[in-house]
Amino acid sequence: MFEKILIANRGEIALRVIRACKELGIRTLAVYSEADVDSLHVQLADESICIGTAPSSDSYLRIDRIMSAAEVGDVDAIHPGYGFLAENAHFAEVCESCKIKFIGPSAEAMRAMGDKNSARAAARKAGVPVVPGSDGIVKSEADAIKIANKIGYPVMIKAVSGGGGRGMRAAHNEVSLVQGFRAASNEAEKAFGNAEVYMEKLIVDPHHIEFQIMADTHGNIVHLGERDCSIQRRNQKVIEECPSPLLSPSLRKKMGDAAVKLARSVNYVNAGTMEFLVDDSGNFYFIEMNTRIQVEHTITEEVYGCDLVKEQIYIAAGEKLSPHIANPVAHQHAIQCRINAEDPARNFQPSAGLISFYYAPGGRGVRIDSHAYTGYTVPPFYDSMIAKLITVGATRESAIERMRRALGEYLISGIKTTIPFHNAIMLNADFRNGTYDTGFVDRMMNSDTFELHPSNGRLHD
Ligand code: ADP
Ligand code: ADP
Ligand code: MG
Repeated sequence: MFEKILIANRGEIALRVIRACKELGIRTLAVYSEADVDSLHVQLADESICIGTAPSSDSYLRIDRIMSAAEVGDVDAIHPGYGFLAENAHFAEVCESCKIKFIGPSAEAMRAMGDKNSARAAARKAGVPVVPGSDGIVKSEADAIKIANKIGYPVMIKAVSGGGGRGMRAAHNEVSLVQGFRAASNEAEKAFGNAEVYMEKLIVDPHHIEFQIMADTHGNIVHLGERDCSIQRRNQKVIEECPSPLLSPSLRKKMGDAAVKLARSVNYVNAGTMEFLVDDSGNFYFIEMNTRIQVEHTITEEVYGCDLVKEQIYIAAGEKLSPHIANPVAHQHAIQCRINAEDPARNFQPSAGLISFYYAPGGRGVRIDSHAYTGYTVPPFYDSMIAKLITVGATRESAIERMRRALGEYLISGIKTTIPFHNAIMLNADFRNGTYDTGFVDRMMNSDTFELHPSNGRLHD
């Protein structure tokens, strides 16, 4: 087993990895930017090294500085978390060439599945259905028009290297197609340094259903069920739940088998997620693979009674899948709310700054993965997610009631958060009935009766 692991990340996921390492008796090395000096991941790690200034391009994305830190700290492995360098195949190769284990898939598998266009090709080759669309990259506006006429409007223009809902535009006619093509390429060029786009038919109000894959270096590949991530705002996940209220056992089996088949076809190793869209008629289409641990891995852990980050470390160390992962059994229901430092009353504008008071809910069935604390200043440079609130119940209803209760206890002052927005969703009839799709958030916010629900906040007023 490894003796020391470098965590090439920040925020809650850095804490998540540090916690797993501590329980495994592995020493940890945190890296951090000047903006994160007071961050919990720096305080909880055994050692820490500053790798640059606040912008991630000068710190968390600097492969050279991270490798120097790994050298100085004499680590045997690097966990990339999610975001930043987690899906960077070149980074995985640099780690290997420095004889430091990259805790994740091979660079080859990352290349095959990391770029959405090649992932679509791999899925087609494996016989897994993809959303009808372009055969490859769409090079010009003229090409885009031709393809749209062939597949029929509405269409989606998507960046090959997109992520976090960025670099994506819907188009309902030729005019919006030309605009969307330019907007998607420009946004992708700025955000990911790659302007390439491809096209898919727009599936109207689909469900987002993804399967958790775990695979070891001995050829064992399994899935640990699905997560329903259809509660989205601007194509970004807001709430996730496991299992999905939509899936029948037979559809679950079909999609799960397809997910494993696709992972096997690229010799996938370690944790990964196969994302699908499911339409009204129960047709499913592969959209992309995330070749890393995901933000919402937590709900799978709660339902399947496992630790996916520890399992990632075991797999990287060459061990076989643990028996409870190799033969996973689902029990209970789990829901996760992503708490962001944003103001839902002001179009979700970012709300960085000092957290003057922080009190997290607790009690039975409540889990918090967060790096926030009283006195912590949320820096404006990074992702706005400051906490994941997860509740578990024997049934979906009890998990929802527990979430409502826990959100009501959650007190964060000094900055605005999305807690009032989550409160509103927990009270919404369509959410409570489990009859929702990716159009849910827009419908809810456009309804006449929509209102945000602040928690009561008596403790700190
Ligand atoms: P990202 O890399 O940003 O996560 P995805 O390809 O996973 O991008 O898509 C994110 C979300 O965007 C999906 O969950 C879905 O809600 C929406 N979406 C993507 N492609 C389509 C499509 N072809 N039709 C309808 N919605 C789509
Ligand atoms: P705990 O937090 O309950 O101590 P750990 O995650 O530390 O659990 O796991 C301790 C050991 O038990 C590990 O070897 C792990 O592989 C195994 N383990 C963890 N969860 C389960 C489970 N649900 N069923 C069977 N074995 C498990
Ligand atoms: Mg996605």
